[in-house]
Amino acid sequence: MPRTCLVTGAASGIGKATAARLRAQGHSVIGADLKDADICADLATADGRVQLVTQARELTGGRLDAVIAGAGLAAFDPVTVKVNYFGAVATLEGLRPLLAVGQDPRAVAISSVAILHPHDSAIVDAALADDEVAASALAQAAVDREEGQLIYGASKAALARWVRRAAVTEGWAGAGIALNAIAPGTVLTPMTQALIDNPGLRDIADSSVPMPLNGHARPEQVAALLAWLTSPENSHVTGQIIFIDGGTDAVLRGDGIC
Ligand code: NAD
Repeated sequence: MPRTCLVTGAASGIGKATAARLRAQGHSVIGADLKDADICADLATADGRVQLVTQARELTGGRLDAVIAGAGLAAFDPVTVKVNYFGAVATLEGLRPLLAVGQDPRAVAISSVAILHPHDSAIVDAALADDEVAASALAQAAVDREEGQLIYGASKAALARWVRRAAVTEGWAGAGIALNAIAPGTVLTPMTQALIDNPGLRDIADSSVPMPLNGHARPEQVAALLAWLTSPENSHVTGQIIFIDGGTDAVLRGDGIC
């Protein structure tokens, strides 16, 4: 049965591939992004987040079956925590009432294997305390001490923890809405292109994100998992961080989780 889905980050990479897959399956997809989308909104800002929800209501009549919060970036800049955590949480929480009246409602956030790498735990704590000013200031402090690389993993770790906490609450599980996160390894998208095109940087990336099964992923391969997680077939997977990483997690953590 055709579903109504909303995908953020729909103009590029994983979001674009996911929107295309869902459309090919016959679903109606509303894409959101900075530009080239049905809803053009800047999820780094409070206004943009309100605009997303307002326009989503108008375009859907107030009802959604699936949401994929994919918009993100990996800049050594506070904007990374604003979009990757606060933008994603605002997307999911803002659209939750639309999902609550949907059919077999499902939502997924895109985290990252970067949660397995060292990151700034103070940013994680500030984000989970819903303090965007403090989280942004801590991110700027990381940049100032030339540790801007610690921001991305922190933004994605906070998002993963938020998903696990929220998924089992009355507002999500209690309303019948499955909520998960995926944690991709290296995916061949515009976000990673400069890294992959540079042999030196590519070697560094591959040693920190080892992918023994099939190497780097294409966005279409990640889209297949997102499409399943947001389908009615997913009746009981919720609160999970699902690694789609060619084995990175198993290599880096080994027995560490069981
Ligand atoms: P991408 O750059 O191809 O797509 C990201 C999209 O997010 C872009 O279209 C961009 O315009 C949008 N976006 C960025 N800032 C925004 C803002 N302020 N408001 C609205 N939209 C904004 O990258 P991708 O690889 O497809 O990344 C998709 C998601 O997957 C991101 O959250 C990223 O962190 C995550 N991820 C990617 C990889 C990878 O290797 N590519 C790995 C793990 C996780």
